[in-house]
Amino acid sequence: MSPAYPQQTPPSPPESPSEATVEVYALSAGHFSLPERFFVHPASQTARRTVPSLSFLVVHQDQETNKSTRIVFDLGLRRDTNRYSPPIQKHVETRQPMTTLPDVTASLAVGGLTPDDIDYIIYSHVHWDHVGEPRDFPKSTFVIGNGAGALLQGQGSLRGSHSFFESDLLPGDRTIELSNPYEDVEEETKREVLDSDAPDFMQEWKPCGNLPRTLDVFHDGSLLIVDSPGHLPGHINLLAKTGPTSSIYLAGDACHDRRIMRNEREIGEWLDDHGHICCIHADKKLAEQTIERIQVLEKGGVEVIFAHDFEWEEDPKNRSRFFGRS
Ligand SMILES: [Zn+2]
Repeated sequence: MSPAYPQQTPPSPPESPSEATVEVYALSAGHFSLPERFFVHPASQTARRTVPSLSFLVVHQDQETNKSTRIVFDLGLRRDTNRYSPPIQKHVETRQPMTTLPDVTASLAVGGLTPDDIDYIIYSHVHWDHVGEPRDFPKSTFVIGNGAGALLQGQGSLRGSHSFFESDLLPGDRTIELSNPYEDVEEETKREVLDSDAPDFMQEWKPCGNLPRTLDVFHDGSLLIVDSPGHLPGHINLLAKTGPTSSIYLAGDACHDRRIMRNEREIGEWLDDHGHICCIHADKKLAEQTIERIQVLEKGGVEVIFAHDFEWEEDPKNRSRFFGRS
């Protein structure tokens, strides 16, 4: 006898046989100034705000082998802005005042780490204020979301003076581009690392709770890469389990202002010199859906931190959460 309805397996969290967790530390990686009207609506025409470009250190220790894996999420601003491409240097002029020190390498040094200690750098996305100076990390492997590689190669037309990318940003032999979250992963590209203590970036995207597409990086539930579309192709977030009941969601540029999270403001739009409607998010509708999912997580007790989260940075209780300051 067949059931009246097709049996569906409800989405379930990744198997967490262990109580595996990761440590998460903030890394200061520069500050710059943003016109408020580019991010929220309504906003004054003149209001500007100094915001951080935060990076994060995520440390995973394998419970069986004790092997440590160190991941840095985003590299923030480039210490020497003259090393940005000319269009970005022009854009940088509109983001003053700006400070690039301490950059991510100086912030790692506060806690006693050098770039050579960093195994992986995961980029939330490849905008100029997140990519930092990859050549500072000659041994690390870089991980980018699906579609970010095409952007770096100049494919795709995005409006806005911040949307210029460097084709030679990343070393091809040390860069992993994640698979398309909306397509099945081909069997031969899956790496069987279930019994290994190495991170697995080539697995199938799976739902977890209210998040439809995630990668369980260490197969122990301690760190998820979360498909978080809308801001820029390849935009990804991290959901880090930091204790038995505590988790941190690193939201990149999914949102720029907590008033949007509190439904007090909408995502801003403006007209460029040619009269085109511009938005800081490449796809505003998708960005709104991503924000809704993050709101659900926050209501469930997950701590949410954005890359430019001035409110989080200014909160005195977070000062000790920067690497080397605890
Ligand atoms: Zn961005």
